[in-house]
Amino acid sequence: MINRLPADRCVLCQKTLDEIGGRRLTATGANLVKLSSQYLGGGDKRFPYQSVKLTDDGDNYVVVQGTAWTAEAIDRAKETFLKGLRPWFCQVCGHRQCSKCGFPLNYPVAADVLYDDGENPHCMIIPADLGCINPRCEKYKIFIRNGFDPRIKSDIPTT
Ligand SMILES: [Zn+2]
Ligand SMILES: [Zn+2]
Repeated sequence: MINRLPADRCVLCQKTLDEIGGRRLTATGANLVKLSSQYLGGGDKRFPYQSVKLTDDGDNYVVVQGTAWTAEAIDRAKETFLKGLRPWFCQVCGHRQCSKCGFPLNYPVAADVLYDDGENPHCMIIPADLGCINPRCEKYKIFIRNGFDPRIKSDIPTT
């Protein structure tokens, strides 16, 4: 699949990344939005799947996971895919937040992140607390703008 570029806003809360900070997410294990040739429905009640056809006559489904998805949100995801863009959700909707202040964490652990260029790498679990993006919070840690970037090797902590 080609790298689709990200939509302007979080598909769930409809805020921009500039409003929220942190990273765009596409999968966390409990929340997901993707295009698939496979229908997925039901599953674990805490993290249920829903699928809708992308087009009436096509073979692709918009697949979402989690309890945050209203019919309107799924519609927005579908419209986004139909425009050739990639829907995503923010770290607040995806629960990759600071336990103290609720701002996005610098590092959205165990999540797939979506960059400006459509790259979609996975943030592995690392044994370090990289803090949050909120300068007024005691857990604040300075990384590059909008937090830790797993693609920049010099940023990766060694412990
Ligand atoms: Zn959001
Ligand atoms: Zn914080």
